[in-house]
Amino acid sequence: MTDSRIDFITQAPAVGSMDVRWIHGAPGRQRSSDPPIQVHHYDQHTTILRESKSVSYEAPFLYLMFGNDRALLLDTGATADAARFPLRATVDQLVAEWLARHPRDSYELVVAHTHGHNDHVAGDAQFAGRAATRVVSRELDAVQQFFGFTDWPAQIVTFDLGGRVLEVTGSPGHHRAAITIYDRWTGFLLTGDTVLPGRLYAFDFPQFLASLDRMVALAETSVVTHVLGCHVEMTRQPGRDYPLGATYQPDERALEMTVTQLRDVRAAAHSVAGKQGVHRFDDFVIYNEPSKRDQFKLIARGVLDKIRGSR
Ligand SMILES: [Zn+2]
Repeated sequence: MTDSRIDFITQAPAVGSMDVRWIHGAPGRQRSSDPPIQVHHYDQHTTILRESKSVSYEAPFLYLMFGNDRALLLDTGATADAARFPLRATVDQLVAEWLARHPRDSYELVVAHTHGHNDHVAGDAQFAGRAATRVVSRELDAVQQFFGFTDWPAQIVTFDLGGRVLEVTGSPGHHRAAITIYDRWTGFLLTGDTVLPGRLYAFDFPQFLASLDRMVALAETSVVTHVLGCHVEMTRQPGRDYPLGATYQPDERALEMTVTQLRDVRAAAHSVAGKQGVHRFDDFVIYNEPSKRDQFKLIARGVLDKIRGSR
């Protein structure tokens, strides 16, 4: 079988499509007609998936990137049950389709995570027993060991998908084992829950700040096309987020952010350093080491919103 190597260097960063209307749930008691998983092909080697709001209000985004030797699935969503959330079947089909276009004698799947919170790892078990598959555990030591970190979190290590090289760095603060990935092929900066158009929960603020500094530094030495997190929680109205638990977000903003917005997050975070609590900005909301009271208010707003049934 011919093993024609795809060139992931010459044309990088490749032009892809962000022209997509993401599935965003249904109002009130209305039944959502959304599929459980939306599949968007950014380019022929890069797929962005979204878990439906009808399956989990978290509606996380997942990333599937193909190289010559292996594909990386970054995150496995918020739902373990394959009947409700058929991630394995979806990924198997996407891999099969890719391999049909680019035949290979062997091909590996690596399943890793932006960070270890439950809404990013719940589908891991669906990949247990899959042939030629490595699932990286959510634990910090497993993440460090798998990617080869010797100087966590500052080090930038590379992970090669086969001619498609990813740069990986530690970015704790939201979660102790959080990583940020820069993909040289697409120019994506994959920021997990650390930077996204929504609520940025900084549980360890000094680490969060240091991570943002490193993410900006990484973005400044690379060509970044899109800064991509794992959730969308902001409406299109500046400073206005959907309530926690919202299952209908018709006016949500785009997933992708710019490097300018990444710099804004960093500047905003520096401006609220030492000020514990909730800080609202146009494109995101920073939770600086949220107290029980801050978290209660967030939950209460979500519950009230549900009772009112306004969405
Ligand atoms: Zn998280």
